[in-house]
Amino acid sequence: MKIICVGRNYVAHIEELGNETPTEPVIFTKPDTALLKNNEPFYYPAISNDVHHELEIVLRVCREGKDIASKFAHKYFDQIALGIDFTARDLQSAAKKKGLPWALAKGFNHSAPISSFKPVGDYEALKNLHFELHLNGEVVQSGDTSHMIYSFEEIISFISKYFQLKTGDLIFTGTPAGVGPVKIGDKLEGFLDGEKLLDFEVK
Ligand code: MG
Repeated sequence: MKIICVGRNYVAHIEELGNETPTEPVIFTKPDTALLKNNEPFYYPAISNDVHHELEIVLRVCREGKDIASKFAHKYFDQIALGIDFTARDLQSAAKKKGLPWALAKGFNHSAPISSFKPVGDYEALKNLHFELHLNGEVVQSGDTSHMIYSFEEIISFISKYFQLKTGDLIFTGTPAGVGPVKIGDKLEGFLDGEKLLDFEVK
């Protein structure tokens, strides 16, 4: 399986990092070794001094396909979860300055904690999902899928022009505003439409 991520998909987050609004989805990948499941603790990595949380909605691909039209894209995912796109912001900033790839800043070990998956059918309106990250009990990120620049369907259609999708692939769909650093001892809780799905510590 592969992990494909979309960057810069919520306007308020683009503004907080001083980035330009993209004219097409910004795509990067993480290796499968980035996954962290079952709310296991995240061990602060030695490779960074500025790891940021980015809470995102994650889609699970349920069938193989490429060159998928947007109008059919809803058939290609059947489950959703919450995930954290942990980002070594210090490494990413250095890479950006030099015009170099983000692979190490985004794909380091356990940089992709994910919750359990929920069937898409459990949600009335995928275009109106509310999700929140609580850091030590305080709301730090609060997002709504109605604020996405590119919809789930547009993301799948775009990605599938380049990467053939396979069952089990995961797609991180971008983070809303409020990203920030984590430190050892922090507790992170992620809520999707009011239900707590993520609940783990930084050690
Ligand atoms: Mg992200």
